[in-house]
This record gives sequence, C-alpha cells and structure tokens, in this order.
Amino acid sequence: RGLLYVVADGMGGAAKGELASRLAVRSLVERYYADPDPDLRASLWRAVRAANDAVYRQAQANPANQGMGTTLTAILLHDGKIYFGHVGDTRLYRMRGQRLERLSRDHSLVQELVDRGTLTPEQARLHPERNRVQRVLGTGPTVEVDTGVETLALGDTFLLTTDGLHNELSDAQIHGILSSSGSQASERLVQAALRESGGPDNITVVWVRLGPSAVGSGGRGHKSWGERDAYPVVAAFLALV
Ligand code: CA
Repeated sequence: RGLLYVVADGMGGAAKGELASRLAVRSLVERYYADPDPDLRASLWRAVRAANDAVYRQAQANPANQGMGTTLTAILLHDGKIYFGHVGDTRLYRMRGQRLERLSRDHSLVQELVDRGTLTPEQARLHPERNRVQRVLGTGPTVEVDTGVETLALGDTFLLTTDGLHNELSDAQIHGILSSSGSQASERLVQAALRESGGPDNITVVWVRLGPSAVGSGGRGHKSWGERDAYPVVAAFLALV
C-alpha cells in the first residue's frame, strides 16, 4: 500500500504536544495499512480522521490532556502517484526541476489574511500572530481534512516541515538550500533555521527525493511503481531545542 511519510507538530504544552503528535502518527499509520480500500486517497483521508479520533478520545479521557492537539501532514507514494493528507500549519513542498511549490495550504490566521489580500506571504511569515492555527487534530470530534493527488516525475523532491522551519526561512531560502545541498538538504535546512531564530521552536524536516528507479528510466514516461524497484532516498532530521 505504498510508502507513507508523516510530520505532526503537537501543541498544548510540551508533554501534551508530544503525546498528541505521537498518538496521531501511530494511529494514522496503523489505520492506513489496515484499510483494504483500493481507493488510496479515501483511505488516507480516513486514516487522518482516525488520528483525530485517537487524540480527541485521549484528551477527553484524561483531564490532564485536555486542550492537546496536533497538526499533521502525510504523504503516500504509490504506483507513480503522491497522495497527501493535511491539517494545520505543517507544510508539504514539492521541488520539481528548479521550481519550488507548496502543495498544502496552511490552516492559519495569517494564511486567511494572505488569501484575502491583506498580507503578503512575507508579511505573514513575520507576523506576530503567525502561530495562530485555525484547524488541528484532536480538539474536536471530527476535523476537515485536505487531501490531494499528483503524478510523480523523475527527480521530484518532497519536503515536509514544521513551522519551526518555515517561519524562519522564506520559500526563496528553502529553494536555495534545496537546490544546492544534495543529500545534506535536511541538515542544512535545520541549521539555517537555527541561525535565523536561535531556536525558540522545535524544527522537523522530512525530505524525500525520487531516484530514477522510482519513476522509470531516462525520465521519459512512467514505469509501474513496484515495491522492489521503488525506494526513494529519504533523509529526516529532527532538532529539539
Ligand atoms: Ca511548532
């Protein structure tokens, strides 16, 4: 059922945030791989909803856990396609050739102001209310989940980041580091964010690059995506400050 990568950024205090993000990731993975539905996008959507349910139940069951929640951004690579599920202000970026794009949309106050034309993206990144997240997992019995699907191409690089990274680095800085760093990209991104910030927030980066075997030889057309010949290069780097 493909390869699943996920970043979740917990909130509600350090201990509760850690519990919320751990519960969400575990229940997402278990639910996704246990689901027999051949519609993978629907299956991923259900798995994110199950993650919401797991965090919400735990928050309701124990008064000490009330108010905990987590963002979550997950990607699934299967048979020449990437599927994603997303809630909150963690982000999914795709680097294709020299073009960096965000495939997820932040569920945050400042993103709403950008959409209305009140703020530019650069003003949003520096705004004092930039941490106000409008939608997270675990704070209500159900949650609205964004999902998407895209076709993979040779050399595609996917980046999952927490706000500890993308609040400190502009998309142009992320682009510059990704295009010049090769397999050191995740370490360099975290180091650059730490230099900007001094590290008030935790920083998580998951970086996935598709090699030739994942999408077919010579970069022309698509070979079928099989488990035996489809191992993307993966690097993950986590800095807790
Ligand atoms: Ca954070």
